[in-house]
Amino acid sequence: MVQIQEATPPDLLLRALSAAARDHGPAAFSSSLSAEDMVITDTILTAGIDIEIFTLDTGRLHAETLEVLGAIRERYGYDVRVYKPQPDAVASYVERHGRDAFYTSGELRHECCRIRKVEPLKRALAGKHAWITGLRQVAGARDRIEPVVFDHEHGLLKFNPLAQWTEAQVWSYLRTHEVPYNRLYDHGYRSIGCAPCTRPSLPGEDVRAGRWWWEQGAAKECGLHLNEQGRLVRATETV
Ligand code: SF4
Repeated sequence: MVQIQEATPPDLLLRALSAAARDHGPAAFSSSLSAEDMVITDTILTAGIDIEIFTLDTGRLHAETLEVLGAIRERYGYDVRVYKPQPDAVASYVERHGRDAFYTSGELRHECCRIRKVEPLKRALAGKHAWITGLRQVAGARDRIEPVVFDHEHGLLKFNPLAQWTEAQVWSYLRTHEVPYNRLYDHGYRSIGCAPCTRPSLPGEDVRAGRWWWEQGAAKECGLHLNEQGRLVRATETV
């Protein structure tokens, strides 16, 4: 009797990425150099899929996060494309409000994220037809992530191929394939963004609790995945 093996999550990931590149290119993958994004990076570069990998260097990242760029170069011989904020916009923000003004109000926090992340993302996605992300479904604001949505903000298809992966599956993949990862994960971090806006997670906290921890009741988002109404782009815009 012929045994039919079920596709594993890594098989499905490979298929999804290959299809995105083949049917919807040019495609780009926005990597925050997180554990999730290293799963996707490894899949793209090992299989030679035609998807550009870029990251947003906000100018406020941990040194450990930037070290991952060197680890990718060493392991795969690939230079991740780095986008930085407009220097004039950063200088103007710092001059008007102070470098760390994001602690003082939600408005100034979102303004900083807009300058350092949202605007560079727009430049990175210009001319692309498909955007790959490492978003995973987790309790809270990210409790309903669809595998594919149409992103009206950027006018392209957005693929979230890890939507249904668990944190344990991510780590199992990284360990099995000996993929390099950010050393901060070994020091209690579970979700890593800019250094001044990220702390390690405490026992019992949810996975994104260490992001903008001083903000109460606010969505833990920087704006990269929000639509014009400030909502996470998800089920309502599913294609
Ligand atoms: S995460 Fe913090 S430092 Fe980074 S862009 Fe947003 S507010 Fe600025």
